[in-house]
Amino acid sequence: MAFEGLSERLQKTFAKLRGKGKITENDVKEMMREVRLALLEADVNFDVTKTFIKTVRQRAIGSEVLDSLTPAQQIVKIVNEELTKIMGTSAVGLNKSPKIPTIIMMVGLQGAGKTTSAGKLVKYLQEKDKARPLLIAADVYRPAAIEQLKTIGQQLNVPVYDEGIDHDPVAIVQHGLKQAQENKNDYVLIDTAGRLEIDDQLMDELAKIKEIAEPDEILLVVDSMTGQAATHVAEGFNDQLDITGVILTKLDGDTRGGAALSIRSVTGKPIKFVGSGEKLDALEVFHPERMADRILGMGDMLTLIEKAQQEYDDKQAEDLARKMQENSFDFNDFIEQMDQVQKMGPLDDLMKMIPGMANNPALKNVNIDPKDMDHLKAIVYSMTPAERQKPELLNPSRRRRLAAGAGRPIVEVNRMIKQFKQMQTMMQKMSKGNMAGMEQMLGG
Ligand code: GDP
Repeated sequence: MAFEGLSERLQKTFAKLRGKGKITENDVKEMMREVRLALLEADVNFDVTKTFIKTVRQRAIGSEVLDSLTPAQQIVKIVNEELTKIMGTSAVGLNKSPKIPTIIMMVGLQGAGKTTSAGKLVKYLQEKDKARPLLIAADVYRPAAIEQLKTIGQQLNVPVYDEGIDHDPVAIVQHGLKQAQENKNDYVLIDTAGRLEIDDQLMDELAKIKEIAEPDEILLVVDSMTGQAATHVAEGFNDQLDITGVILTKLDGDTRGGAALSIRSVTGKPIKFVGSGEKLDALEVFHPERMADRILGMGDMLTLIEKAQQEYDDKQAEDLARKMQENSFDFNDFIEQMDQVQKMGPLDDLMKMIPGMANNPALKNVNIDPKDMDHLKAIVYSMTPAERQKPELLNPSRRRRLAAGAGRPIVEVNRMIKQFKQMQTMMQKMSKGNMAGMEQMLGG
């Protein structure tokens, strides 16, 4: 997962503020030194880091923060807002032409994931917009690139326009666009050539294609694993072509995340999508605010809620919200929730989206076995109806009875009851307002 190192370091830094009743200017300065190091280590651009630190420091030592009742939370909130800001504040969608076709030109260095991303984008547009796109193969220097695009076209059932490798790419684009007009394709994606590094010849060719195609969108594809280099590449392409957006690929393999944090500030152009795997469905819209939450270990409640909404109906959601508010969540609900959650996907992935959980050391390398859930259920089923409603009844002798009834060791019973109590507390906090994630992270 991206940002692992950064996330861990930032959270450690903020944890030090925990429990400090009063935070001084010196505490802030000390903390900002650590944040600065964490950002540089994550390969964030030097200037971006410098501006970021300056802004956060200024805001954090303002009297309304240090004199507030919850200075530590306020500071985390500021960091969260500023992280969001440097990544672009909110998601930016694709440009769309008022008349068909919308023309998208894909550019980038070799191996960045341009061809793959063109395919992912086609799939995304098919699903979101029921699009009928045409792909144009204009990378004539690598025969394999044309074949790769054709294979993707077959997989997604979209036409690929190509003239092999013996023609001028500018002419190919011209002919391809004509075909799209004739076939009334609503989108055209042009896969252009890449090089190992930026050179004049490549840029000339791309500029010519841009001139005749008049694209609505020039998407630069960059490999996030190259860190600072990705930011430089983005700067170079933007200077020459005035790109409209970025697709940041291979975020799944990038543990640092510097490119994601730098590109927007350095180029002024939004990251529109991120690639999170090799498969054609591994493309996500880039949401700066959700990314900032993930970095700060506040989880990604929105994504979690979106997943949950697919499983819960309104009545169930209302019931749960009421129980959270009344603090009447009992073991019967616990079982019901477990059933719902099991439908939502692998538990370990879900847990990481919960505020405070993403970098919880206890969750590192954790593999939650569906069997464990069954064991928990067996323990609950051994409870009497009264015990399920009033967990405080569970004294040591009752716990021993549960262990025997479920055929599980007593430590497991104790652990489950403890976890249940923690869950109750967390729910109470969550029902009190949206600062819960931060409060929990800072130990309330
Ligand atoms: P191009 O030369 O820019 O067209 O690059 P390709 O599309 O051929 O991609 C180069 C390699 O990167 C291929 O092996 C892809 O499967 C891989 N790749 C592309 N995007 C991603 C991604 O988001 N995550 C991962 N893990 N691999 C990717």
